[in-house]
Amino acid sequence: MASVSHSSNLNKAVRQQYMSLPQGEKCQVTYIWIDGTGEALRNKTRTLDSEPKSIDDIPEWNFDGSSTYQSEGSNSDMYLIPVSMFRDPFSLDPNKLVLCEVLKYNRLPAETNHRASCSKVMEKVKEHCIWFGMEQEYTLLGIDGHPYSWPVNGFPEPQGPFYCGVGANCAYGRDIVECHYKACLYAGINIFGTNAEVMPSQWEFQVGTCEGIEMGDQLWVARFLLHRVSEDFGVVASLDPKPMKGNWNGAGCHTNVSTKQMREAGGLQYIEKAIEKLSKKHPEHIQVYDPNGGKDNMRRLTGAHETSNITDFSAGVANRGASIRIPRQVGQEKRGYFEDRRPSANCDPYAVTKAIATTCLLDSEDAEESK
Ligand code: ADP
Ligand code: MN
Ligand code: MN
Ligand code: MN
Repeated sequence: MASVSHSSNLNKAVRQQYMSLPQGEKCQVTYIWIDGTGEALRNKTRTLDSEPKSIDDIPEWNFDGSSTYQSEGSNSDMYLIPVSMFRDPFSLDPNKLVLCEVLKYNRLPAETNHRASCSKVMEKVKEHCIWFGMEQEYTLLGIDGHPYSWPVNGFPEPQGPFYCGVGANCAYGRDIVECHYKACLYAGINIFGTNAEVMPSQWEFQVGTCEGIEMGDQLWVARFLLHRVSEDFGVVASLDPKPMKGNWNGAGCHTNVSTKQMREAGGLQYIEKAIEKLSKKHPEHIQVYDPNGGKDNMRRLTGAHETSNITDFSAGVANRGASIRIPRQVGQEKRGYFEDRRPSANCDPYAVTKAIATTCLLDSEDAEESK
């Protein structure tokens, strides 16, 4: 028997009776924020007297930062500043999910609030209409930390049949993928698609295209939905970049990028210029492409399993072993976008998109200013 949580085995039929009770004019709003790890999400819910029509109708709130690795107990109140609102696919309309920035007692951004500085950069590069699309890979684990549906003692057959596979012997946990997809659509996430990955129990969804700061907002909320859907099924969605050592693929968060100039006829020259700039800042980018300064990615970016080596920068058309890949069609049409394959599955999309926009579009003076 796979190790799923006890909660997932509760009688869910009876739940429906309560979930469908009328709630009058009142509205439930679930505030979501990134905690002190820079990876995990927290949330809590409150009642508003009526449905908020926009983000401006949602009040600031606070929480105990000493319980989220964000502050000391003696001065523990942190501010929650609503920044982006979504429909709630769990408690349904008119209820909302709202992503928040976290500010410290002095109203400066918390250590793991990378959104504040990211949005400054995105504002500066606005004229370039920078679009992103991020491919979020993840691994389903049982609550014992073992990959979901893998044999208790031993391993599944070697990688080969699982990528985009179908059938009970190939696809482990598809329910979660499908429910997450629908939840994203309902919420208003710009979900681009999903697929089964190379390692069994590993999956991917893509979010995008999103312009500027939207990328981080949407991906964080899509991650929240993933964790919440997985919770309902009693399993864990892990963003660890290399959950299984050995001959098993890791998990990344490939980041696709284009500017207005790159998308227009002859845009390939601007893609090449951006790659040239990125090549000069490789260590700086590796440092912000996982939440632990490159340590997490060290386990993943080995040069094997469709990755580049963490110490080398490389780029190429249709090359999945390179740091940067130019999709074949983009090479042919000489316009479009490029893919940065280095970000780790547990990266902060604000840190990643900020670094890319800074390196590719700001001159060094502007970049220094927005640090
Ligand atoms: P891969 O072949 O690398 O697995 P996917 O199909 O998984 O690619 O993902 C493609 C991603 O590229 C999507 O997130 C999509 O939003 C993004 N994308 C497509 N066109 C553009 C563009 N012009 N600029 C930025 N991102 C784009
Ligand atoms: Mn993909
Ligand atoms: Mn993939
Ligand atoms: Mn990719």
